[in-house]
Amino acid sequence: MKGMIFHTRSFSVHDGPGIRKSIFLKGCPLRCKWCHNPESHSFECEQVNSTQQLGSKCFDQTKTIGKLVSIEGLMQEIRADIPFFDESGGGVTLTGGEPLAQPLFTAELLRSCKNEGIHTALDTCGHASTKNFERTIEQTDLYLFDLKLASANAHKQYTGVDNRQILQNLKLASDSAKPIIIRIPLIEGITDTNENLEGIKSIIASHKNIIRIDFLPYHSLAKHKFEMSNKNYSLSQMENYLLSKAQAIADSFKGVAPIISIGG
Ligand code: SF4
Repeated sequence: MKGMIFHTRSFSVHDGPGIRKSIFLKGCPLRCKWCHNPESHSFECEQVNSTQQLGSKCFDQTKTIGKLVSIEGLMQEIRADIPFFDESGGGVTLTGGEPLAQPLFTAELLRSCKNEGIHTALDTCGHASTKNFERTIEQTDLYLFDLKLASANAHKQYTGVDNRQILQNLKLASDSAKPIIIRIPLIEGITDTNENLEGIKSIIASHKNIIRIDFLPYHSLAKHKFEMSNKNYSLSQMENYLLSKAQAIADSFKGVAPIISIGG
């Protein structure tokens, strides 16, 4: 079985416990206005143009983003990192894009890791059919689950889909007793409003097994990536989110989960 990825990264320390191998799957059904991985959106290989500056000279180059890989090919890469996982309590994190948008490949890769005793984390926006979400539950040790907007309408406006299926899948994860880290992007005037944050607090209060909340303050690094891929970026004027504001929001969530952090 083959899947489309756009990146792998060894020695990740922000995508779950310990030292991790992060596998970035290509393709996402959402279009969050603040997305900083536009290269992850399409399910196909893409060519993007970029300009490299060397001294006073500029060179145009074309890069291919996306690679079809087999489970066994990836497992060979993953096995090379097992000593680091064992030493640090780490493992493999599937991220993207949206891993659940390639449900059979994701489920099989998680199963292959579990068969070799490797800890697995699934970083997901939660948008998948119930059947596809359920495929992952047995093989996932930890969910990194995005909660962006509490209102179904606002979710549709800013990400392209409403959040009903997402919240159903969060409940499935919660009922499965797997630990969940909730990830909340902080986007000025969109996700950081009192109304939205209070809505997210009530969603979290109605679920079990949420061990941590990570706030992810907006950063503007994506602008350059959108330019490279000739895609329109509607937040091109937005500045980096102020850390002092992120801290105040994190403080207001004290007690909502055992650990509250900024940056993930
Ligand atoms: S779910 Fe993640 S990868 Fe998909 S568009 Fe939103 S931020 Fe980007």
